[in-house]
Amino acid sequence: MKTYDLVDTIDVTPRLRLLRFPVGQAYLWRDGAELTLIDAGARGAGRPIADAVRAWGHAPEDVRRIVLTHFHEDHVGGAAEFAGISGAEVYAHRLDAPYVRGEAAGPDPVYEDWERPLHAQALAQLPPPVPEPDLPSFVRELNDGDTLDFGGGARVVGAPGHTEGSIALHLPRHGVLFTGDAVAASPVDGQVILGVLNLDRERAVASFARLAALESEVACFGHGDPVVGQAGQILREAVSAYQVN
Ligand SMILES: [Zn+2]
Ligand SMILES: [Zn+2]
Repeated sequence: MKTYDLVDTIDVTPRLRLLRFPVGQAYLWRDGAELTLIDAGARGAGRPIADAVRAWGHAPEDVRRIVLTHFHEDHVGGAAEFAGISGAEVYAHRLDAPYVRGEAAGPDPVYEDWERPLHAQALAQLPPPVPEPDLPSFVRELNDGDTLDFGGGARVVGAPGHTEGSIALHLPRHGVLFTGDAVAASPVDGQVILGVLNLDRERAVASFARLAALESEVACFGHGDPVVGQAGQILREAVSAYQVN
């Protein structure tokens, strides 16, 4: 399989490393000797992720779980390969899990006109589709409000709109929020924005508001640079631009 290589890695905090791909991002979270991977890049990202884990001084087997924020290819394509390498368990929200397992094709976003060239550009940078992609054989299904055993208790926060089963992960003890594609940072100026290519924009805005209300210092997006420091406040200011009263 052709590898989907990282563009670079960035240390967000001593416990948190961003893995940047040509399209989209994944994150490694560290609890002592144990790691958690949030999202998994596109198809072919499994081995590059394993290399990134080793470069951080760990073995791939130290990664206990892969939590997928939603079913889109740029977030899940590398999950099966990396699960095979590491033995990590794969998690996704129950509404997106069937698409992650390949039981059905996930629904296309409802495009805004300006998003079409953006989508075409992203597709051009992703590995071309194959007839029989490597898919995770087992996906543990998550629900809104579940707590995962990492980061001092990672709360699963439903964030529907980008996809039906989009989730964020909130680590209250560390003030860290992983938003998936519910929120993004603009590649142009780093401005915090609503994620693009949504299934339901109105619900996506409501989810953005829900995430902005959480106490967080650090916010990590599926696309764009993380916010480090006062993330909650910055997200609340950003979401107000989308809310019409
Ligand atoms: Zn994405
Ligand atoms: Zn997405």
